[in-house]
Amino acid sequence: MKLQQSPASSGPKLVKKHLSFVVLLVSILLLTMFWVATHETEKLLQNQLLLQGRAFFQEILLTRQWIAQHKGVFVPPEPGETVNPYLLMVPGLKTKIRDESGQEYILKNPALATREISELAQDNALFQFHITSLKPFNPANQPDAFESAALTAFENDRQEYTALTTSPQGQPVFRYMAPLRVQPDCLSCHNIQGYRVGDIRGGISVTISASDAIAQINKTQWLLAGVAAVMWLLIAATIISVGKALITQLTKAESRLLEWATRDALTSLWNRREGHRLISQAIAHSNRQHRPLSLLVMDIDFFKHVNDTYGHSAGDEVLKLVAATIRDALREYDTPCRTGGEEFLVGLPDTDLNQALRIAERLRELIDRTPITLSGSPPCHVTISIGAAVLRPDDSLDTLLARADAAMYLAKQTGRNRVVAEATMPLPQ
Ligand code: GH3
Ligand code: MG
Ligand code: MG
Repeated sequence: MKLQQSPASSGPKLVKKHLSFVVLLVSILLLTMFWVATHETEKLLQNQLLLQGRAFFQEILLTRQWIAQHKGVFVPPEPGETVNPYLLMVPGLKTKIRDESGQEYILKNPALATREISELAQDNALFQFHITSLKPFNPANQPDAFESAALTAFENDRQEYTALTTSPQGQPVFRYMAPLRVQPDCLSCHNIQGYRVGDIRGGISVTISASDAIAQINKTQWLLAGVAAVMWLLIAATIISVGKALITQLTKAESRLLEWATRDALTSLWNRREGHRLISQAIAHSNRQHRPLSLLVMDIDFFKHVNDTYGHSAGDEVLKLVAATIRDALREYDTPCRTGGEEFLVGLPDTDLNQALRIAERLRELIDRTPITLSGSPPCHVTISIGAAVLRPDDSLDTLLARADAAMYLAKQTGRNRVVAEATMPLPQ
């Protein structure tokens, strides 16, 4: 079993969590900004097209009004052109005149003039408009689906009707339609249909190409998306690099703190508190798994004499070298710790008393036969006394430690530089 170090704090994890949250917030903010900007640009486009549609409609209306005020206009016919048959249906309407030179002129009423101007606009690919009604005189003026919907809406008091749609050729177009109300001038021709002044006679639909505007919008949206993406990348990169630096610093600081909290500053072995924690953990594990565990308590013999002879800092060096010798001679999962001045404690998981005594003897012998070279002083020789105890089923760390301690004192009393096992007593069955 490998014993666990003290759990690392969740500082870096917390920083990561917070920074991820900030990145998420920035992303949401940028997406919202992008969405609002896109939405507003689209609204602007629709508004522009609406104003354009209204302007065209008003122009057509004025032209029609002017023609209606003059009860129609007479124009020289195109080659082969005759009077419109629908005009001939209006009783008493003069549809043809001649001037003094004999030149013939035929009547164009507002509807005819509107249609011809509309054809002219269409030929010049400017925009299109169409005069139509739910009850057209001329079947060629039948409304299309958009116009029917608009005319029905006008009957229900709607003043305008618009749609951003596609033309039969698949081009994006904006369609605007407004009602055409019966004026007194209209009745000279249209009273046979039973209209009264103010009635909705029909409507004029205006169709404007939206290709350029949509291309412009798309360009703006790509630009906005690009700016948002670059901003996001810059902000995210800044947050990530700041976060990384912060996490590195925090991790370093934390591991330094952990080191200070768990290690003995002089020997780098576990300190007393961490040693006790690790050994308690190992005891719990051994009890659960029904595995043996032994404890060694060690004390350097006559260490006061070493200090007195070689000085305190030489004593420190001796402590470091003895600690290193103990650590190097043990397995990775043993837990050597410095519990006091020149006292050490070692937890030996998976080790029964006989094995523990062999390990202790090896350590004692190693320290005994290894001369310690001190800088500026003759080599120094130290020995250690060791007490060993093995875990019993009802043991806590304290009871186990007390038996190992007692064994170590026995080693001191019986001559030092020796290993003594705990007082043998019958193990509970
Ligand atoms: P014994 O064999 O009975 O253990 O004798 P001892 O001299 O080792 O025991 P004692 O308890 O009388 O003295 C221990 C000495 O260890 C006294 C103290 O000055 C010294 N000591 C404790 N901590 C340190 C330390 O960190 N550095 C040094 N250099 N000496 C220390
Ligand atoms: Mg001592
Ligand atoms: Mg001591």
